[in-house]
Amino acid sequence: MAEVLVYVDHVDGAVRKPTLELLTLARRIGEPVAVALGAGAENTASTLAEHGAVKVLTHDAPEYADYLVVPKVDALQAAHEQVSPAAVLVPSSAEGKEIAARLALRIGSGIITDAVDLESGDEGPVATQSVFAASFTTKSRVSKGTPVITVKPNSAAVEAAPAAGTVEALSVTFSDKATGTKVTGRTPRESTGRPELTEAAIVVSGGRGVNGAENFAIIEALADSLGAAVGASRAAVDAGWYPHTNQVGQTGKSVSPQLYIASGISGAIQHRAGMQTSKTIVAINKDAEAPIFDLVDYGVVGDLFQVVPQLTEEIKTRKG
Ligand SMILES: Cc1cc2nc3c(=O)[nH]c(=O)nc-3n(C[C@H](O)[C@H](O)[C@H](O)COP(=O)(O)OP(=O)(O)OC[C@H]3O[C@@H](n4cnc5c(N)ncnc54)[C@H](O)[C@@H]3O)c2cc1C
Repeated sequence: MAEVLVYVDHVDGAVRKPTLELLTLARRIGEPVAVALGAGAENTASTLAEHGAVKVLTHDAPEYADYLVVPKVDALQAAHEQVSPAAVLVPSSAEGKEIAARLALRIGSGIITDAVDLESGDEGPVATQSVFAASFTTKSRVSKGTPVITVKPNSAAVEAAPAAGTVEALSVTFSDKATGTKVTGRTPRESTGRPELTEAAIVVSGGRGVNGAENFAIIEALADSLGAAVGASRAAVDAGWYPHTNQVGQTGKSVSPQLYIASGISGAIQHRAGMQTSKTIVAINKDAEAPIFDLVDYGVVGDLFQVVPQLTEEIKTRKG
């Protein structure tokens, strides 16, 4: 069976969920071979093996932490040369997409970004994308070289599928360009204790209807009752009620959680562009004619200041 390279996103050996989702998809098109780089790379092996990696290629060097993406591209290219895979899968983060694009250029391959599903086809893997502000779903495949495909978080369920996960050291020679862009400092983001917006399984968002920064506390309370991330519409962000890092939409982040709850959000096309591929969509809006109700699975016509706290209480009660 053909091997499929999976680029591992991890923090000091703790594998992030989008990588485990990639392993699920990789198994549909071949045998997953994981590529883990940087500090703690070897510690990823047991988790990756549990989720289907037949092999884990590892390499650590100070370059991965001290410079921007080029050393990682060098390593992924080395893995590509070693394995000759049927495809290379990379998580669709900002960094992942940059690594994937640079790799595709170097190896003369086509690239598909932001896939939301992947299946095997007679002429290579077929990727599903949600395009034009999520108004169309397309299926495409790479016709030149080894397909390089980035996949959005939450596009597949994480499945346990124990495999050997044999650790092999990857031999990497860094190019001259690898040390071109040095990291000169790092400022850790203040932790909210909530999951990362683009990776969260549940997102609770607030819009102009929330009517003030202080009122976002009720959105946060609902999010916390569900272990969810908090999102915001551009109207709420522009009003200064919530940080831009939490904006969902065309000029914000694109999310695709299992559950998206929109409160006081009208459903403008630019907002939909960032959340329309969510699996289940719930909206709370006092205007029964709001366009968001055209795309919801469940809609509540009501005042969010009454509905949201009641929902939070009910969830807490049921959770015990
Ligand atoms: C180039 C461009 C890019 C853009 N990018 C983005 C983007 O990335 N993300 C984004 O979100 N927008 C984006 N926008 C803006 C977008 O067009 C909308 O203006 C914005 O999404 C509206 O935000 P909203 O739904 O919160 O506000 P509104 O459209 O004002 O809707 C507020 C809703 O709240 C409801 N409401 C009010 N009070 C209550 C209450 N008490 N209880 C329940 N419901 C209540 C109202 O009925 C209404 O439906 C972009 C626009 C442009 C032109």
